[in-house]
Amino acid sequence: MTSGYKKAFWVNSKAIAQNPEKHIKEMVEMGADEIFLLSIDNEGALYPAKLSVVAKEAKQKSLIEEAIKEAKRNGLKVHAWVVALNKPNEELTTKRREWFVVSKEGKSCIDEPPYINGYKWFCPSNEEVRSYLLGTIQELMETYDIDGVHLDYIRLPDLFLPEGLREKYGLEKNKDVYMEKYDFCYCKKCREGFMKDFGIDPIEIKFGTRKWYEWHAWRANKITEIVKSINKVVKSYDSSIETSAAVFATPGYAYRIVFQQWITWPLDSFEPMIYHEYYDKNIKWIGEATMEGLSSGKNIVAGIFLGFLRSREDLLSATDIALEKGSSGVCFFVYPVPHPELKDTIREAFSRF
Ligand SMILES: [Zn+2]
Repeated sequence: MTSGYKKAFWVNSKAIAQNPEKHIKEMVEMGADEIFLLSIDNEGALYPAKLSVVAKEAKQKSLIEEAIKEAKRNGLKVHAWVVALNKPNEELTTKRREWFVVSKEGKSCIDEPPYINGYKWFCPSNEEVRSYLLGTIQELMETYDIDGVHLDYIRLPDLFLPEGLREKYGLEKNKDVYMEKYDFCYCKKCREGFMKDFGIDPIEIKFGTRKWYEWHAWRANKITEIVKSINKVVKSYDSSIETSAAVFATPGYAYRIVFQQWITWPLDSFEPMIYHEYYDKNIKWIGEATMEGLSSGKNIVAGIFLGFLRSREDLLSATDIALEKGSSGVCFFVYPVPHPELKDTIREAFSRF
């Protein structure tokens, strides 16, 4: 059934919950053979979980149960897509204030979220955050028959924004402008942890100095540690469950702007979000970013943003260039598709590999 390449969609489960049968059929007709089904979003689990907070709409009824069953009946692989560290859920921001990141200005992201209102993030150094995430994922695997666990928002807030997004937030487009209010995390755990390892309180470290790079690396390492523990929990529960993550477009960008050192993560595959217009790049760059990812030796499935592909030519060239440069398939963001007139083109694109 499968060519060994992933033909996948990231799926907005809320949008298909009313009629999963129709939507799964449509994805199968377009040629998909795997889906990344949003199962835990920033508000919480999209099913009545016990170990995780639950999104309002899902308190009474699971929004993913039927979709999973329907997908499996149709031979699709289902990866549970999990929003890991971005968690603006009110119950958590109220009761677990100390779990959230603090900026260099000393402000909690709960009171002063960076860039947008919903940017309230768990601190990766906090052991309670870790056990919470591990418990959540364990329960998810025990509740549903899933083929994969897919991590998203597994990072700190953006130290810098990608070029294509800067003007929207009143920032200079062609320059990385460092601002303390976008620099996380300086919570008690992080400060004490770094102090213990390096003998200096990170609040004293100036951006761009030699020590800064150790502090940057220390934070990236905290995220890597979480990824490793999640991978371990998944594999010890069932080694056939695949692990993967939606990471920033290239290893370089990912490390520098969101502290993801994903080339060291022990996951089965990586779906870098090569959303070219966010980086102010053209379609050809999808190929370059794919190659950069592959140079890490990891299994790369190019994540392509359908909203930026407005014609048949664009869609086909985006897919072709990713495949040509060595991507193990394509994962489209997002289903339901933003340009429904291009559904036939998606089918055409999937049929080429
Ligand atoms: Zn912290």
